[in-house]
Amino acid sequence: MEANGDIIVKFDRVQKSYDGEILVVKDFNIDIERGEFLTMLGPSGSGKTTCLMMLAGFEPATHGEIYLNGKPINNVPPHKRGIGMVFQNYALFPHMSVAENLAFPLKVRGLDKATVDQKVKRALDMVQLPQMAGRRPAQLSGGQQQRVAVARALVFEPDLVLMDEPLGALDKNLREEMQYEIKHIHEQLGVSVVYVTHDQSEALTMSNRIAVFNDGVVQQLAAPEVLYEQPSNAFVAQFIGENNKLYGKVSEISGETASVELDSGTRVQALAVNCGGTGERTMLSIRPERVVLGDEGASNKLTGKVVELIYLGDHIRCRMEVAGHDDFIVKVPNSHAHAALKVGEETPIGWVTEDCRALDVM
Ligand code: ADP
Ligand code: MG
Repeated sequence: MEANGDIIVKFDRVQKSYDGEILVVKDFNIDIERGEFLTMLGPSGSGKTTCLMMLAGFEPATHGEIYLNGKPINNVPPHKRGIGMVFQNYALFPHMSVAENLAFPLKVRGLDKATVDQKVKRALDMVQLPQMAGRRPAQLSGGQQQRVAVARALVFEPDLVLMDEPLGALDKNLREEMQYEIKHIHEQLGVSVVYVTHDQSEALTMSNRIAVFNDGVVQQLAAPEVLYEQPSNAFVAQFIGENNKLYGKVSEISGETASVELDSGTRVQALAVNCGGTGERTMLSIRPERVVLGDEGASNKLTGKVVELIYLGDHIRCRMEVAGHDDFIVKVPNSHAHAALKVGEETPIGWVTEDCRALDVM
């Protein structure tokens, strides 16, 4: 991806209501860079598909403006936007062969037969189905049909492709394989992709940036590693990856550090990210792999009582009771240290202040 500031899509204060009352998209603002793989991630009903439909031109925005290549498109019909699309239910034409399905978007654009044949062949090669040209969709597996749908969205070489949960109907292995395939196609072609999913690991795997949606509002827009390492609120911390929560009250804020008195009475230090001021309740967020056994070098020292140990080969998943919560997870690397862990026994644990974020309470 070239970070040259070339913006292909802009949503400017976009709102959407279907019934004239409830806003299902509340105030959407985003600049999508040319060549970027941008994912809208969020739970069901959070407004992702609605945003995609407005960009595609199938739903009008209630308020605000959407720009494509710098031009407002609110009044441009879908077929004039030149956008490729892939959806969960492949929507291939059942009565046409694979090659005819791929040729269709080229024919409606008036390309000559030789060019059509050449582009169809190239698209089939790209999704590794060169031998399937003559088959009908019904004669293909689900994964193959979805590959054809991807090829059909790309065959007319659009600048922009929209994909709405395109892998949702596939089983886990195939879904993961297709994630890498789509990612590689994106890298090869340099096409801009706006992708919708409710699956956080899919979003982390594929995206340059992710917009995390909840209830029609973008909670955070950032690169995958930033979302995971530096969630800016409790929703993102819980939605992306595994997260330990401890609750308490801010007793003091000094620079970037919050002193927090946990409900159990224990005092800890945390990064003051989004916790309000002295006296406010806060949720502390600590990733399971950032908790260390023993308290050497840790600026926060607590005691954990082992409740459950699960051996997972490369690490041991240890559930502990910490500060009155019995759902505190520690991922212990598989080294000799874990041999000391026994269910029912107490052990010192700790973490450094930078790995503990004081956030809002949802
Ligand atoms: P997501 O794709 O994140 O699951 P949607 O954008 O499909 O969310 O839906 C957002 C909200 O808008 C939901 O409450 C949904 O019920 C509502 N909604 C979606 N499409 C329509 C529609 N065509 N008419 C009325 N309400 C809709
Ligand atoms: Mg949807």
